[in-house]
Amino acid sequence: MTRCAYCPRLIAPGTEAGRDGYNHPVCVDCAAGDDAPGPETEACAFCGRGRDEAAVLVVGPGVAICDECVRLCGEIVAEQRPAPSGPDGRAR
Ligand SMILES: [Zn+2]
Ligand SMILES: [Zn+2]
Repeated sequence: MTRCAYCPRLIAPGTEAGRDGYNHPVCVDCAAGDDAPGPETEACAFCGRGRDEAAVLVVGPGVAICDECVRLCGEIVAEQRPAPSGPDGRAR
């Protein structure tokens, strides 16, 4: 017995409507409903680029970020991180 990826419903064998982009089982109701959740999170939460537009889209639980924004975040972290001071106390 499998469970629908979009609702808590159990999918009886043979009634599975199909699979989503992640190969998760989808029940008949969720496959038919226009209000089914899912691909909404497949866009970068920072710039809004979708899977087709971003070269790489890192998808987490309910959120996604594209490679461009990951790079930008890396730069911001590098800029804002306090400069590490060496053993002699001097900032590098
Ligand atoms: Zn469902
Ligand atoms: Zn982005």
